[in-house]
Amino acid sequence: MGGFATHIVFNFYVLLMKHFFLIIKMNNDTIAAVSTGLQPAGVAIIRVSGKDSVRLVNSIFKGDDLTKALTHTVHYGFIISGDDVIDEVLVSVFLSPRSYTGEDVCEIGCHGGVDVVEEVLHTLFSAGVRSADPGEFTKRAFLNGRIDLTQAESVMELIKSQDSFSRKAAVHSLMGNVSSKINIFRDEILDMASFIEAALDDPEHYDLSDYRIKLRKKIISLSSDLHEMILHFDEGSLLKNGIRTVIAGRPNVGKSSLLNLLLHRERAIVTSVPGTTRDTIEETCNLGGIRLLLSDTAGIRETDDIVEHIGVDRSVDAIKNSDLCLFLIDGTKPIEESDTLIYNLIPDNVIRIILINKSDLLNRNDSHFMNIVSEKFNGCDNVILFSAKSGDGLHQLTDSIRNLFFENKLPNPDEVYLVNEREKQDLDSALKSLSLVVRSIDEGMTEDFFTSDLMDAYNSLGNIIGANAGDDLIDRIFSKFCMGK
Ligand code: GDP
Repeated sequence: MGGFATHIVFNFYVLLMKHFFLIIKMNNDTIAAVSTGLQPAGVAIIRVSGKDSVRLVNSIFKGDDLTKALTHTVHYGFIISGDDVIDEVLVSVFLSPRSYTGEDVCEIGCHGGVDVVEEVLHTLFSAGVRSADPGEFTKRAFLNGRIDLTQAESVMELIKSQDSFSRKAAVHSLMGNVSSKINIFRDEILDMASFIEAALDDPEHYDLSDYRIKLRKKIISLSSDLHEMILHFDEGSLLKNGIRTVIAGRPNVGKSSLLNLLLHRERAIVTSVPGTTRDTIEETCNLGGIRLLLSDTAGIRETDDIVEHIGVDRSVDAIKNSDLCLFLIDGTKPIEESDTLIYNLIPDNVIRIILINKSDLLNRNDSHFMNIVSEKFNGCDNVILFSAKSGDGLHQLTDSIRNLFFENKLPNPDEVYLVNEREKQDLDSALKSLSLVVRSIDEGMTEDFFTSDLMDAYNSLGNIIGANAGDDLIDRIFSKFCMGK
């Protein structure tokens, strides 16, 4: 055998052994962690998982013989260490494969004092159980095929969720709805690719002459479904994380007053001296069910004041990093060059709404005035007459934001299929590969070009559910988990 071939065989052998030991390690060691957190509480749950979990827990348990326990049963008794009774507990037994991890699992329900929990854990470790890594229970559930990657990640999202929208979207994904949708798409793609391959191999029995038109139609329809998923994800993220909103305008136009109005309280100092808001202020407010992450900018203007200068730089950054800019002008004063200068700092990708503030002091022909403003600001058609003092125009502002970001309809958590950016990127790649197939069809390329891009799309979708996840990706994903999960 030549040197190169020996090298390949050796590498293959090393890889095989690595996986073999990984599987041995996976199957053999028994892990434990407190699943309820380490703070004083009425009860705490310590989860133990692994092939020997029942035997090992039984060795420190005084009560029923757990090794004879049926699955999904609860047993009253005591955790003991030699002659010491550590705690009075309830042990729930879940036998493989019907457990969270797919392995034999014992959940020890003990009292929630920090010392009790630590002592029970310590006793378990002395009996031969190892401390679980963050996310290791869920990782085992994934590696044992109990759940796929989207479900595993939605466990994390569910734990992190702080509002009902995020919770509902995570539960929806945890129930496997994402995976089944992705699998349907993958099946469709595989059908297309295998038909083409079969036809290329056996042209006598398969006819590809009309297939291009059919394939193009199918791919356009599939792409539009994928596109919709991305749209729902983007809208869902905006709703979940909040719209990064910046309030901008020259000094004294009413930025701090608007911030106070939105927050319903005095937060920024409102004065009639230009330049008093020295720094950006960050707050969150809820506007008709839409969360805005607000930052008020220091009045942007030429300044020699060093403190103010820092605030001004930050304001420019804040505008660049926002999703929405609420741009204020003073309706009682003529539009100045500084107004247009600040307005022109707003990048094209940032949605802007112009608020003509102090409308309570105005006595003008609304529509004519709004047209003039719109013209002055590059034809911007989101212009609202507003009063930060009286709150006039607030409903219009809410409607406008709803309209601009959600086309008037807030997303339904049941329609949000993706829970994180990783999944979105894979979906993006799948879409790109499908667009290449369409291009090949349009450019009259031969059919074998189609299958390679179709398979790329198939694999990108597979990444979402973890069908081809390597060790590195798996480790990276699960390391973000909290202990005991
Ligand atoms: P900023 O420098 O842009 O933050 O402006 P402020 O919020 O500090 O407001 C400057 C001045 O304008 C203050 O005296 C506010 O009371 C006043 N002001 C702000 N908004 C309104 C409004 O809608 N109507 C009236 N009449 N006065 C306003």
